[in-house]
Amino acid sequence: NRDLQGKAALVTGGSRGIGAAIARRLAVRGADVAITYAASAAKAEGIVAEIEATGARGLAIQADSADPQAVTAAVNTAAETFGRLDILVNNAGIFPYGPPEAVTVEEIDRTIGIHVKGVFVASQAALSHMREGGRIISIGSCFAQRVPHGGVTLYSMSKSALIGFTKGLARDVGARGITVNVVDPGSTDTDMNPADGPGADGQRALNAVGHYGAPDDIAAMVAHLASPEGQYITGASLAVDGGSNA
Ligand code: NDP
Repeated sequence: NRDLQGKAALVTGGSRGIGAAIARRLAVRGADVAITYAASAAKAEGIVAEIEATGARGLAIQADSADPQAVTAAVNTAAETFGRLDILVNNAGIFPYGPPEAVTVEEIDRTIGIHVKGVFVASQAALSHMREGGRIISIGSCFAQRVPHGGVTLYSMSKSALIGFTKGLARDVGARGITVNVVDPGSTDTDMNPADGPGADGQRALNAVGHYGAPDDIAAMVAHLASPEGQYITGASLAVDGGSNA
């Protein structure tokens, strides 16, 4: 299915994990794909090689999502390189964990900077390039709707902001034929949350299916939302969480 042929996409945080799976999937469906990364230059180039192996164009851009100027420049570089921008996936993320008393103002700023401000700024820049059929898809978390344990107050706060962002922006750009959605993963096997990590059994016990999801499970939903078939889905939060919030 090459239903993204002729489209161009940018995936933030595409060097590893869920973002890398999304970048590969969009390329397999025919899109040219740019990715951003913070530190993993070699891994990002490896993903670009995989994108190019599908016949699509690929591009890796170092851009800290907490730096608004770097984010805006990355979006504009992707659009100029590909000559268009149709799909923005706001995926880059971190996982601050610990008791609220121990959270520093710097951690609050950095988390909000990457998960909220960076998403807003990237979307603003992307909208200046998008035409009818544009797609803005953010990766939230199932913790945005329900928080099953302590230690994640800052993370949950930052991810729930994407719900209001998504609903508001869907109203703002709907008449332009652009959709805006947030995908809320549950436990997904990545460097951030390895399926053999110390807390993994507890996470498995909390969902309905009893096992972790794969990055490709999230990528499949993103590709559906990005495709022409997703045209009537907007302002929505889509859980891909093995029933964690059921
Ligand atoms: P990983 O830690 O495996 O990968 C994170 C990716 O984001 C890397 O490509 C990393 O780049 C990039 N990144 C991190 N910080 C920045 C930054 N400041 N600027 C630019 N890029 C950055 O995480 P996951 O793949 O697991 O997570 C992806 C998204 O999914 C996140 O938003 C996360 O919150 C969300 N999520 C994940 C869940 C899970 O169980 N894994 C569950 C729910 C939500 P680099 O390689 O350069 O560091």
